[in-house]
Amino acid sequence: MATFTSDEKKIIEYAKKAIVKYNKLRKANLGIDTLYAFVMSDGGKIYDGACFETNISHSNICAERHAIANMILKETYKAKVKIVVVADPVPDIQKHSTLPCGTCRHVIREFGGPDTTIICIQYIQRKGDWIFPKIEKHKIKELYPQPYTPVKWD
Ligand SMILES: [Zn+2]
Repeated sequence: MATFTSDEKKIIEYAKKAIVKYNKLRKANLGIDTLYAFVMSDGGKIYDGACFETNISHSNICAERHAIANMILKETYKAKVKIVVVADPVPDIQKHSTLPCGTCRHVIREFGGPDTTIICIQYIQRKGDWIFPKIEKHKIKELYPQPYTPVKWD
């Protein structure tokens, strides 16, 4: 079991409440549980995101980038990503949690730093309630050790 900092505990508790709130809202509107992401900025504020699915796959936006875009909207490009929570609905406990995709790993690294924390939460719907049986912790430098940097030619 991973150990968590006080900020990590804070965003995990926030995420659990928000997942239940959003899933109840979706359920009331005949929606299904979805993948959410929550981002804590270096200023300590938390931003929400959900995966945005369209009928053209390249128009889809992952929850992580949605949450980061919300951070940029409220705090401008000066904000940095300190912690990202990725919360994925699963039918049963999975051996491996869903990790951010390659594009999101890049964006998290670009708007965060090597030590930005990635917390993966598996959640399960049980009789109209939601439980959180597995939480993993990673650092973006482990998931994306050699970040892409656009080359500036002389
Ligand atoms: Zn992604």
